[in-house]
Amino acid sequence: MGTVRTAAVIGGGIGGTVTAMALARAGIEATVHEAHPGGADSAGAMLSLAPNGLAALRIVGAEEAVRAAGQPVPGVVMADGAGHRLAEFHGFPGLPATHAMARADLHRALTEQALAQGVKIERGRRLVRAEEDHDGVIAVFSDGSTAQADVLIGADGIRSTVRTLIDPAAPGPEYAGVLGFGGLVAADVAPAEPGTMYFAFGRSFIGWWRLPDGQICWFASLPRTEPLTWAEVQRIPAEQWLARLRERYADHVPGERLLAHTAPDTLMATGPMERMPSVPRWHRGRLVLVGDAVHAPSSSSGQGASLAIESAVELARCLRDLPDHTAAFGAYERLRRSRVELIGGNAAATNRAKAGQAGGPPAMPTPEQMFGPVHRHLIDWHATVPGEGQ
Ligand SMILES: Cc1cc2nc3c(=O)[nH]c(=O)nc-3n(C[C@H](O)[C@H](O)[C@H](O)COP(=O)(O)OP(=O)(O)OC[C@H]3O[C@@H](n4cnc5c(N)ncnc54)[C@H](O)[C@@H]3O)c2cc1C
Repeated sequence: MGTVRTAAVIGGGIGGTVTAMALARAGIEATVHEAHPGGADSAGAMLSLAPNGLAALRIVGAEEAVRAAGQPVPGVVMADGAGHRLAEFHGFPGLPATHAMARADLHRALTEQALAQGVKIERGRRLVRAEEDHDGVIAVFSDGSTAQADVLIGADGIRSTVRTLIDPAAPGPEYAGVLGFGGLVAADVAPAEPGTMYFAFGRSFIGWWRLPDGQICWFASLPRTEPLTWAEVQRIPAEQWLARLRERYADHVPGERLLAHTAPDTLMATGPMERMPSVPRWHRGRLVLVGDAVHAPSSSSGQGASLAIESAVELARCLRDLPDHTAAFGAYERLRRSRVELIGGNAAATNRAKAGQAGGPPAMPTPEQMFGPVHRHLIDWHATVPGEGQ
């Protein structure tokens, strides 16, 4: 049984809310401190929650609420960019369906679950500093307020403040060479059976699926050498982005048609695609990282939210079972680093191809990559985490 009794979780996004719920199950009282002053966070476009992420949510009692907020998409159809089907799968035995959902809906469902489970969420609290002593750590916020706990967990996203408190020389996010876009069109613009995700490769990649209301939602990217910030992308009118996308997807089936039927007011510009390169230090003293702060794999992986949820649960297990925070943080890193770096590395290769830096377009994934060990990963919550050398 661990000696850690309280935790300050910095960031109330996907990883932070799940961390707090998992810690409660491990007998540790956690308070979430979120910089954003408002309630539900409406930022972000669509994301997918893979079977491994849903399985980890089951452990914290949030799987059903999250499923209800999303749409099951068990099937996959892969095609070339000329309209030929190359492969199709309609669910895999023993593997629950990936769920597609708006990030805002996932965030809302997790926040409601956390509050219902008694987690305290303090809003408008932006961490700026942390002071450690022998007995604990004090989190200092931009409004001058403070909070004390045994450990401080940085679930503060890809631009993490906690990461630089742990290691001022820590790397920052890496631009993947493409800008992300999505859009909505009417049901008859491209073939789309409900519950099926479509991927069309060829010179440029585009993906799409049918929403419950019948519309088709597509996602694509534009290579760009010089990165733009999200705000800079928003300042460029949607008409201009659509014109560039139409040029890029000219002669692509069905990219050309999907873009031709997209109205500017439905275009979602999601900004620069970014990932975290390998972070040398995951923890220092009483401070540790979870989620995008330490292993953002980029949206090409379809695993950002799922990996953050897995790490949240594993960190709680380690703090439950190991005698102190030092042993727990070491075990947590040993459990997680190779898995998240493998997935992030695969996504980086896809991103290089999307950006035109790989000498060819993105390769079609194999069934093993789509439905193999990454998606089948299960955490055994009841198993005791061994200490180093055990
Ligand atoms: C605005 C936004 C939009 C996104 N859109 C998409 C998308 O469309 N598709 C997709 O696949 N993924 C998207 N993501 C990424 C996806 O949500 C993450 O990969 C995944 O959910 C991991 O979550 P996380 O909790 O580690 O980080 P995040 O979800 O980024 O949450 C981090 C939280 O920490 C808070 N925070 C940051 N700094 C501080 C501080 N100093 N003090 C206190 N709180 C702080 C932030 O306000 C945020 O709520 C988005 C993330 C964000 C923040």
